[in-house]
Amino acid sequence: MAEAIPGLQVDHDLSHANTLALPSRAERFWLARCESDVVRGVELANRHDWGITVLGGGSNVLLPPLVGGLTLRADLAEVSFAAGEEGAVHVEVGAGADWHALVRRCVERELWGIENLALIPGLAGAAPIQNIGAYGVEIADVLDWVELVDRRDGRSRRLSREACGLGYRDSVFKRELANQVVITRLGLTLSTRPSPRLDYGALGERVSDPSSAQAIFEAVCAIRREKLPDPVVTPNAGSFFKNPLVSRARADGLLSEAPTMPHYPQPDGRVKLAAGWLIDQCGLRGLRKGAFGVHDRQALVLVHFGGGTLAELLSFSEEIVDTVHATFGVVLEREPRSIQTAVA
Ligand SMILES: Cc1cc2nc3c(=O)[nH]c(=O)nc-3n(C[C@H](O)[C@H](O)[C@H](O)COP(=O)(O)OP(=O)(O)OC[C@H]3O[C@@H](n4cnc5c(N)ncnc54)[C@H](O)[C@@H]3O)c2cc1C
Repeated sequence: MAEAIPGLQVDHDLSHANTLALPSRAERFWLARCESDVVRGVELANRHDWGITVLGGGSNVLLPPLVGGLTLRADLAEVSFAAGEEGAVHVEVGAGADWHALVRRCVERELWGIENLALIPGLAGAAPIQNIGAYGVEIADVLDWVELVDRRDGRSRRLSREACGLGYRDSVFKRELANQVVITRLGLTLSTRPSPRLDYGALGERVSDPSSAQAIFEAVCAIRREKLPDPVVTPNAGSFFKNPLVSRARADGLLSEAPTMPHYPQPDGRVKLAAGWLIDQCGLRGLRKGAFGVHDRQALVLVHFGGGTLAELLSFSEEIVDTVHATFGVVLEREPRSIQTAVA
């Protein structure tokens, strides 16, 4: 009987384990506090033929009412620092460390590299999955390696940054290795040498002292608190849509109609558009339908007022996608990841 297995929780409530506060239960739940716990969880699931869902802080997922199989959280939280050459500092961080707390700790040590990534919710283990990014910086800029347990053979291995295939909100963990691995640890290289990145949006104007990582950290936190709803108060999953990448020709066509449209040429020749601006221009900011709405300060964020279901949220988001497509001919893609109702 599954219930008799030590450490295995059955019928575990996940409603408070996702920042959208969608009602959800895990058929089985496994909290792994060290790497061998992760391996044991993977072996257990493989032995019983249970699908595995890895959950971090639940800030970028769309949970179904029932998550079948085994839901696993890698709660390894240790952080260590080692001095390298020429001001480099190598940081090893467990997958269960809170990302924002890590950023704060690094900034307090006057380390540069991730200060622009302050206040992104979630755990460190999820950071490479979508290559978290904000204010012109991505984890790709500082990531050295990722350690993981491969679910196919239960073995641990280390992937180099190159092997992680990091791109805009993308990585090998969303493609070839999707649902195949449990990330347990990350290696980052930060620096004691100042390297301010202030060229994104209004950040530069808000920083009191560009030579201080602490000042940048505080400015990022202040801007984010003004713009984004706190998921603890108003459940949400941050940006609900990715910023779409379109061809130069399509961007030029749109710009001839709307010259003020924000647009960011990319190294590959394509142009990134601002999904929030497109939604805003369609007059959808502040729209509320039932339990869900478009946030009134940031059109990229969908919020949950309570009592809603995943099906209602998906239907609401499809209306937004359809309206933007009908108005601009641009297809918006969802950012949070759908968790399948894995078959037990
Ligand atoms: C208010 C708000 C603001 C946000 N702002 C940003 C932002 O500025 N930039 C940005 O990039 N993102 C942002 N996000 C999205 C989110 O915070 C990040 O994607 C974060 O990295 C998700 O971490 P998590 O631990 O909550 O992951 P979860 O939501 O729990 O999981 C996300 C995905 O990663 C997988 N996963 C999680 N942990 C592991 C692991 N150890 N091993 C293997 N797979 C794993 C899960 O299966 C799932 O597919 C924001 C979200 C919110 C709510």
